[in-house]
Amino acid sequence: MDQLLQQIENYKQEIAKLTTNGAESLEAYRIKFLGTKGIVKNLMAEMKNVTAEKKKEFGQLLNEFKQYAESKYEAWKEQLDGNTTASATSIDTSLPGDPISIGSRHPISLMKNQIISIYQRLGFSVAEGPEIEDDFHNFTALNLPEHHPARDMQDTFYIQQNPDWLLRTHTSNIQIREMEKGKLPLRIICPGRVYRNETISARSHCFFHQVEGMYIDENVSFADLKQTLYYFVQEMYGKDVKVRFRPSYFPFTEPSAEMDISCQICGGSGCSICKRTGWLEILGCGMVHPNVLSNCGIDPNKYTGFAFGMGIERPALLKYGITDIRLFSENDVRFLRQFTSAT
Ligand SMILES: [Zn+2]
Repeated sequence: MDQLLQQIENYKQEIAKLTTNGAESLEAYRIKFLGTKGIVKNLMAEMKNVTAEKKKEFGQLLNEFKQYAESKYEAWKEQLDGNTTASATSIDTSLPGDPISIGSRHPISLMKNQIISIYQRLGFSVAEGPEIEDDFHNFTALNLPEHHPARDMQDTFYIQQNPDWLLRTHTSNIQIREMEKGKLPLRIICPGRVYRNETISARSHCFFHQVEGMYIDENVSFADLKQTLYYFVQEMYGKDVKVRFRPSYFPFTEPSAEMDISCQICGGSGCSICKRTGWLEILGCGMVHPNVLSNCGIDPNKYTGFAFGMGIERPALLKYGITDIRLFSENDVRFLRQFTSAT
């Protein structure tokens, strides 16, 4: 099959290179390619040797090739017949071309790319994983065993066919899969779409996007975590941004913290966006729980690491002044067009 495709490609190139001159060479061309014992007929005869599942693909290509060979013949013949006046005058090359509409990147992609590029400068590489995940990689390995109350906060959609499968509630499943590979040190960011069983409103949706990050090596400390995230927000929001860490709880990190930045709308004096506090919560983070390391076959007495996770929708809402999260997924071109020149 591949050999046949290559043959067709070679013939195509041969035809493309042919210069159209003289009735004799036209006739020679006709016999060689289109004659009763010509190349096109021969290729058609090959059809019976092609496997059933490839037949459609091959037939299509062959048909295209046949049309191509015929159109070359017609064009050549037309030229010889001196019948060139019609085609020469009907094409006005000075006319402006049809406008090509230029699309724009989705605001979520813009924000995601910006976040990725900052972490890449710190040596993080991008890792990806499946959106349909099994229970182990989404919950159990992350120190969220069955019946753990924290699972309630991440209710999701289960696959009827196999109750062990679900739509991932965070991109932490990628971290688990990367840790399982056992290649250390590990320094990754994991962007992707995640799902939660939430009522759809202006502020929340049943799917959204996250970027999570993880760094595991010997002697990784909370100081590394703070400095990494501080660098990130400075690159993202400017050198004047202030940060604060608040103690928090996640089953998969210990200690855990939420990180706030000084409100970029009011500069910290208090507004409706920051609920008059002057602070905006942007991400959760912490030191990877020893149980999580053990679950993935990493020795917690030798290695330590930090992890963080942030939503992409919220910073995008803030950056572009969007007030309704549903706009991101409604596919309204009037909304999307507004990002043509956005970065
Ligand atoms: Zn504010």
